[in-house]
Formats: sequence, C-alpha cells, structure tokens
Amino acid sequence: LAKGEQIFAPGYSPTLILSNHRIEVTYVPTEELLRKRELEKLHSMVEIVSLPKSLRNARINDYYRNSDSRNVALKYAISFIKRYCEEGGHKFLKGLYLSGRFGVGKTYLLAAIANQLAKNGKKVTIMHMPSFAVEMKNSIGKNSTLDKIDKVKKAPILMLDDFGADQLSSWFRDDVLGVILQYRMQEELPTFFSSNIDLDNLEKQYLEINTRGEAEPIKAKRIMERIRFLVREVKIEGANRREIE
Ligand code: ADP
Ligand code: MG
Repeated sequence: LAKGEQIFAPGYSPTLILSNHRIEVTYVPTEELLRKRELEKLHSMVEIVSLPKSLRNARINDYYRNSDSRNVALKYAISFIKRYCEEGGHKFLKGLYLSGRFGVGKTYLLAAIANQLAKNGKKVTIMHMPSFAVEMKNSIGKNSTLDKIDKVKKAPILMLDDFGADQLSSWFRDDVLGVILQYRMQEELPTFFSSNIDLDNLEKQYLEINTRGEAEPIKAKRIMERIRFLVREVKIEGANRREIE
C-alpha cells in the first residue's frame, strides 16, 4: 500500500492490534454494520405478505393502553410471547382474534407481537388475507397453489390480517382456508386474526354466503369451529387512530 492509501472496506474500521510483538492492522465491523446485520436478522424472522413494510416498526411498548379492551389484548399478547418463548411452542397456545372497527390498531398490535417474537428468535408470518385470496385465485392451475398452501399452513406462527374483508369463494373457504385451519388445529400451531367482523357475526356475514350468493351453513360452521379452537377473541374499542393522526 502506498502511504496514505486506504483499503476501502465499507462497514469496517481499521484498528491496530498487537500481535506477536508486531503491530498489525485489522478491520473490525463498525457499530453501524453490526446494527444493520442485527436488523436484517430480525427482519428475516418476520415474513410480511402484502402489508406495509412500515409494520416492522410496530412495538409492543408503543402500543396504546388507553382503553380497557386494548389493555386486555396487550396483556394477553405479552403473556403469549412469554409462554411461547419459555415453552418453545410445545404447549398449545391460543392466538388472538382481534375484532373491531377500522383504525383501532388491530394490525398494529399483530405486527408488534410479531416483531417481539422475532426479537426472541421466533419465526412469524403475517399476511393480508384479501390479497392472499387474490394471489391464490391467480395461481389456480399452476403448480404453485399447493406449495403456497403448504407453506402457509406450516408457518410456526401465522397471523391473518383483515380476515373477512373480502367476498369469500367456496373454493377459497374449503380448499384453502379449510385446509390451512384444519392443519393448524391438528398440529396446534398458534394462529392470530384481525377482522372488522366479530366472531359471533363471522359465520353469517362472511363464511356462509358464497360468491354465487348461496348459503352454505354446514361448511361455514366447520370453519367456525376451527377458528374458535385456535383463538381467544378480544373486541377492540376506541377511537380510530387514523382520524387522530
Ligand atoms: P386497524 O388494523 O384496526 O384498522 P391499524 O393497526 O392499521 O388499525 O392502525 C391505524 C393507524 O394507527 C396506523 O397508522 C397505525 O400505525 C397507527 N396505530 C394504531 N395503533 C397504534 C399504537 N398503539 N401505537 C402507535 N400507532 C398506532
Ligand atoms: Mg388492519
């Protein structure tokens, strides 16, 4: 190296060390690089499907505690995280079914839970349900359909955001949702939901009517049973955060 010339190693800073009575230069990662690596590791633990990436910033500690129902949901969330991390997912834990109006912070809480679990090294998949339904519909006839269902149903922790926000087809209900929920119930895999429709109305308002307008009560009941097995419902009340901000 010519005098004054620098090896360009972004993210590393040269440090002099004493080695065998000789002074040598080594390159150590800067704090910035270490932080970046840490963050990348964290991000790789939460798979966000069709949802804003800004959800990566949602934090349990920033979650509003200004209504009773939010506190109930938060308390459950914290105990879920604690137990899941302690028990290593060996004991079945119910996920949350967060219902409530648009803008009360349901998605925010799901993302905050996911991020906290990621910090503890746990893998979480969080999906926007209406987008997933469209994606699945577009994949019909391709080999990828079954692979996609398989991957989703086996996610260690699955969060279905905006459940009930679209119009359900019999195919999606029975061959996609039904398969996923059946597997998760059998394998006792934690599953979370957020929805504008509470559990008591979900069957009639969402699951029962197919896209041709026919009622299919028995199939709807079957899905309902699986959901009820998987979750504990908390109805979130409170102001619409989007109007306040
Ligand atoms: P929902 O899913 O119930 O429709 P969101 O979770 O999307 O509502 O929340 C609406 C807006 O308020 C978002 O911009 C979100 O980032 C923000 N928000 C919601 N809850 C909180 C919270 N507890 N702390 C900080 N920001 C929040
Ligand atoms: Mg939402």
